[in-house]
Amino acid sequence: MNCKEFNKNIDSFLKEKIDEDLLEDFIEHYKMCKSCNEELEIYFLAHKIFDNSEDLGENVNEKYNLKESLVNFIKEKEDIVYRNYKRDFIFKMMFLIGDGMSIGLAAYFIYILVTL
Ligand SMILES: [Zn+2]
Repeated sequence: MNCKEFNKNIDSFLKEKIDEDLLEDFIEHYKMCKSCNEELEIYFLAHKIFDNSEDLGENVNEKYNLKESLVNFIKEKEDIVYRNYKRDFIFKMMFLIGDGMSIGLAAYFIYILVTL
């Protein structure tokens, strides 16, 4: 993901509407690119203030811990990425095992046919 794409996805990321396929690239870019890192912080701050203005009063502490809440927010998203990783891995393993079994089964039938 480049800076332009990152910028395009900031809004959907903060609204938690980002495509999960993009999430990993997004977080990766966030970690590598200093200017986008700062950009996201600014947007996060604005998002907190404007989008949650009705409960801002209760979240005064959160306002002072913005950096921390952003870190937590990113962490949450990372968890989703890792969860997807794990899920994909399990699927792949199941597929491989399933595949291996069908190959084994085919070999078994061939063996039976040949030996008959
Ligand atoms: Zn960037």
